[in-house]
Amino acid sequence: MSNIQNLADGVRSGNIRSLAKAITLIESRNSDHSRDATTLLDTLLLDSGDSIRIGISGVPGVGKSTFIEALGMHLLQQGHKVAILAVDPSSQLSGGSILGDKTRMEKLAREQNAFIRPSPSGSTLGGVARKTRETMLLCEAAGYDIIIVETVGVGQSEIAVAAMVDFFLLLQLANAGDELQGIKKGVMEIADAILINKAEGENRPRAELARQQYENALHLLRPKSNRWQVPALLCSALYNEGIDEVWNMILDFVTIMKKENEFADKRRLQATDWMWTMVMDNLKDLFLQDKNVAAMINQVQTGVSMGTTPPSVAARRLLEAFRRH
Ligand code: GDP
Repeated sequence: MSNIQNLADGVRSGNIRSLAKAITLIESRNSDHSRDATTLLDTLLLDSGDSIRIGISGVPGVGKSTFIEALGMHLLQQGHKVAILAVDPSSQLSGGSILGDKTRMEKLAREQNAFIRPSPSGSTLGGVARKTRETMLLCEAAGYDIIIVETVGVGQSEIAVAAMVDFFLLLQLANAGDELQGIKKGVMEIADAILINKAEGENRPRAELARQQYENALHLLRPKSNRWQVPALLCSALYNEGIDEVWNMILDFVTIMKKENEFADKRRLQATDWMWTMVMDNLKDLFLQDKNVAAMINQVQTGVSMGTTPPSVAARRLLEAFRRH
């Protein structure tokens, strides 16, 4: 039996060392490893998918790790196996990932049925997202039935995470003043629920006010699904309040979405979108690495920026050079 088959068997049996080894293979930049990684994913595909995939986002300090720890412990008590992954394309720049760091979730890190993996490194969001996505499949094959993908509340990474999960949860704080100023419209549109954290003690009335403002604003948005009105909820991750309500809400969502196959349809769409993204990314790489293209790209680009070559003509020339094989 080949090494890859052995590794796949190890992952299937839930062996942590095999899972870690499989993820390292997926994350490797070595092109020799890429064929093995593909074989491994092919082998394990039928074992993956049986999970609820939850994306969690919010600005640094909102309480993501505290919340994930509280939710994770709640899920473990119910007998689930929980994997926590992260998408943070800036991790290389900052010299290490702040997301998915085990020291941020100390209790969960000690639990046998919790698996925490920091963000893969990579210079592009696409690369980081691909690795996290594939790691998610490996975790599912290893028996983790709840996958949490954490990301920071800035930039495109939220869109990338929303594209790989069933449910996208946005964590917010009740700030003074106009709540909705603090939220980017595009992000509100991808959220399946808004959760206002730190809603305890004297902060509670302010949080309740913020919740109402969010709900009003959410009613004005066109719903992603006719079957789901995006709610705004309160919790206190630190004091473990409202965690079970959040989980019940996610379960309601899953039940509603599964009734009319919307759950599976969304996953199918995500899978084909992912395929096309990978095709396009690879085509771009092939294009940029092409000898004919490389030989003329600087000159053509200079022509465009100087205004001597129309962009459309330049693009056609480059594409013709690419096709000339
Ligand atoms: P992250 O950067 O989004 O992961 O935020 P953390 O989970 O690290 O939390 C940032 C700070 O807020 C920490 O000092 C937490 O203890 C605190 N915090 C998190 N949740 C709550 C909460 O529900 N109530 C209060 N009062 N503090 C919280």
